[in-house]
Amino acid sequence: MMIHIATELPSFHSRYQSEQDCIEAVIAMKWPNGFICPRCDHTKCSCLSSRRIPLFECGRCKHQTSPFVGTIFEGTRLPLLKWFITLELFLLPDGISATRLSQVIGVTYKTAWLMLHKIRHALGEFDARELLYGDVKVNSDQYGRNPDRCTVSHPHASAVVAGCTVDETGEPQQVKLRLVQQKRGSDRWAARRDLTAFIDEHVDSLSSDVRLFPQAFRLYSPLRNIVREAWKSLKSTYGALESKHLQAYLNEFTGRRWLHLSETEVTIGQRLLQMCVAVPGISYNQLITRQTNQPFAAVA
Ligand SMILES: [Zn+2]
Repeated sequence: MMIHIATELPSFHSRYQSEQDCIEAVIAMKWPNGFICPRCDHTKCSCLSSRRIPLFECGRCKHQTSPFVGTIFEGTRLPLLKWFITLELFLLPDGISATRLSQVIGVTYKTAWLMLHKIRHALGEFDARELLYGDVKVNSDQYGRNPDRCTVSHPHASAVVAGCTVDETGEPQQVKLRLVQQKRGSDRWAARRDLTAFIDEHVDSLSSDVRLFPQAFRLYSPLRNIVREAWKSLKSTYGALESKHLQAYLNEFTGRRWLHLSETEVTIGQRLLQMCVAVPGISYNQLITRQTNQPFAAVA
């Protein structure tokens, strides 16, 4: 049974009302200055609009292309309106689980799971491209510790390197959380070399003042609080997460947090759509064969 959005999510109102609105939004995002042929850069085309998804034919080389090619929407059989509602639900403070999404938009659990992972993938790809720079702090931390219980044993905690930029008051701005390979368990923490590797990959060292916090008992506390927030938020929506996809969920948390911090209410949806239009979708097979703790950007 399809659950009515208005009753289930009282604060939620989709900006998009029709399939045509959504298709036009993708076309506008894909070609903001008008059509450009992906093969020959020609800018004139004719539109074969008898199809559900419009097909554009280049006026010079006759190459036919859809606005969905190279986006996470490529190959989808679903109405785009369902995708757009999903994007909006993804931006809710704690996101939405695949179970809940499947009920809200009336698709199978597997379809909902794959849609959410495609969005996560787009967000993760953008996150991987944006280096931290300026005043940067880097902690060796653990994800999965219950912040309300200071017990010694945390069998499911995963070692992470957490890095952030901070503003003048020391508040974290852009944050990145990276799992450290195969370190799960109470006494496992990222080593100094893991922090150095993080800086090599994710920090623009030339334009940054980087400070490391490698000791568990002396971490940069505003950043440590974000790792705890990530755990609380992801746990509230998804319950316990298997380590195979944990990096993708960490990227979802930091990506969404950064979108809410850096964008306005008007631009946040546009920014997420921009990412989804710029990144080809990850396939179901790629997702299920993903290795545990695989660095996210390495997934083709
Ligand atoms: Zn062409």
